[in-house]
Amino acid sequence: MLIQRGDGGIRYIQANPKPRFNEQQEMIGAVSMLIDITAQKTDESKQAMLASIIDSSEDAIVSKNLDGIITSWNGAAQRLFGYAENEIIGKHITILIPEDRYDEELLIISKIKANERIEHFETIRKTKSGEQIRISLTVSPMRDSNNKVIGASKIIRDIGRQKQAEKRLQQYAERLEILNSIGQVISAELDIQSILQKVTDATTQLCGAQFGAFFHNLINEQGESYMLFTLSGAPREAFEKFGMPRNTAVFHPTFSGEGTVRVDDITKDPRYGKNDPHYGKPKGHLPVVSYLAVPVRAKAGNVIGGLFFGHPEPAMFSAEHEQLVEAVAAQAAVALDNAKLYEDIKLLNEKKDEFIGLASHELRTPVTSLKGYLQIIARNLAADERNKTLANKALDQVGKLTTLISDLLDVTKIQTGKLPFTYTDFDIIKLLTESSEILQQTNPSHKLIFHLPFDGLFINGDSQRIEQVIINLVTNAVKYSPKADQVIITADVRGDKFRVSVQDFGIGIQPDQLERVFSRFYRVENLASHMSGLGIGLYISNEIVTRHNGRLWVESEYGEGSTFYFELPINTNA
Ligand code: ADP
Repeated sequence: MLIQRGDGGIRYIQANPKPRFNEQQEMIGAVSMLIDITAQKTDESKQAMLASIIDSSEDAIVSKNLDGIITSWNGAAQRLFGYAENEIIGKHITILIPEDRYDEELLIISKIKANERIEHFETIRKTKSGEQIRISLTVSPMRDSNNKVIGASKIIRDIGRQKQAEKRLQQYAERLEILNSIGQVISAELDIQSILQKVTDATTQLCGAQFGAFFHNLINEQGESYMLFTLSGAPREAFEKFGMPRNTAVFHPTFSGEGTVRVDDITKDPRYGKNDPHYGKPKGHLPVVSYLAVPVRAKAGNVIGGLFFGHPEPAMFSAEHEQLVEAVAAQAAVALDNAKLYEDIKLLNEKKDEFIGLASHELRTPVTSLKGYLQIIARNLAADERNKTLANKALDQVGKLTTLISDLLDVTKIQTGKLPFTYTDFDIIKLLTESSEILQQTNPSHKLIFHLPFDGLFINGDSQRIEQVIINLVTNAVKYSPKADQVIITADVRGDKFRVSVQDFGIGIQPDQLERVFSRFYRVENLASHMSGLGIGLYISNEIVTRHNGRLWVESEYGEGSTFYFELPINTNA
């Protein structure tokens, strides 16, 4: 029975009512003796609460008596050690202790007998299956109502699993980072050898292998196949003893497209050792026991290589390692495909350059003879003869052809680093003045306005090449401003630099094309493509100016016109 006292306190009461009778034996009331049993009740509920805490605890809670006999065992203890309650109660505690740690138990018992507590004692215990696990132990003495120690209760926490979980989490984070960075790094890489190396290093690290190798099949220009390989964790000589991997039975499935091979102990694999002449590991061979091989497939599905990993201990590679390496292998395949395409293009480009060089060289001789013959014919014709005009026109055209051919030869020479320069000190204002006359003659459609505000300024350089730049810029200005009628050429001194600007009022250049017009064979599409040209003039001009330690650039308003500038260092010694 519960009662509430005047002060609000609740008490458990046991009532013992005794009836009272009068003389006629009629019941006239009762006397009740009330016993306060609050303390007892609280104890019971405390017990129940304790039991439920122990039951639901995540930590194993075990008690034993002073002889070391197990007297209680909770659910977490069962989960941790594998023994059910009825299997273990009554057994000696040493059932959980590895033999070499029996001494610990003696120490624990002696401390408990001395009424001492042991906190967070890290040690190793043994499960039902014999597995050794890392735990943290807290032991407290248990006393009876007379305060006499009768045993001990232990709280056991599995720190191995906790540490393992932390380690795994950290590993996941690291792997994710490697996966991300390897993807980025190799997709930006166009050199095959360095892709192979980066992939080998990253995958070897990812799967915790002692050695890793990447063998990549390639076909050379002659159509013969050859193999490149990179290594991680082992010297090259160690792998060279392998011979070419696809010859061996173990490597065969990887290259023949059968898929990934993962073996816990390759030395026990029947395929291993059949490869003559070694019958097993060749001398000086890497001590491979755990083995993982993942094929690398191109987009078309064909195997273009294989990633191979080894470890001297057995069973080091898991399904997870396999998946990680497969993920990188897929990225590597894309990167290798790209690199291959890039190499192919580079090769074709080289061939194109070679052809241009050869063709222009071959063209030069007949065109030079043609020019000579035409000059003789023109000279021998009387001034009033109609054919004289035709011969002169033919000479003009041959002149243009000569310029084109020599431009093409210049490009080839720039490519091979052999564009010749003859440096002398020369007056650039004089050069501009002289060029202005010829330029005006050859470009009659536009008025060429020269602003040359001073005389005599000396530059150290190749005057012919500098003239080539001026001619190119003025010719372009006229060519790309068909609706305009003037081009302004201005000379100027800026600090220790001499600057020339060539301004036109033509079609202009869009901002995103501004840098590209200086590239080889680059021509702006649309408007400019109707006007003839090879797209090499600015490329050559840029090379010439740069070789003079100068700078060539352009500013332009699309549809309004462009201004090309070049700057050269002024010769301070002259
Ligand atoms: P080409 O004139 O033979 O095509 P260039 O190397 O001299 O070769 O010029 C490259 C490209 O730059 C031209 O095709 C043209 O698209 C653009 N360009 C050059 N000069 C001008 C200019 N003054 N105005 C507009 N576009 C120009």
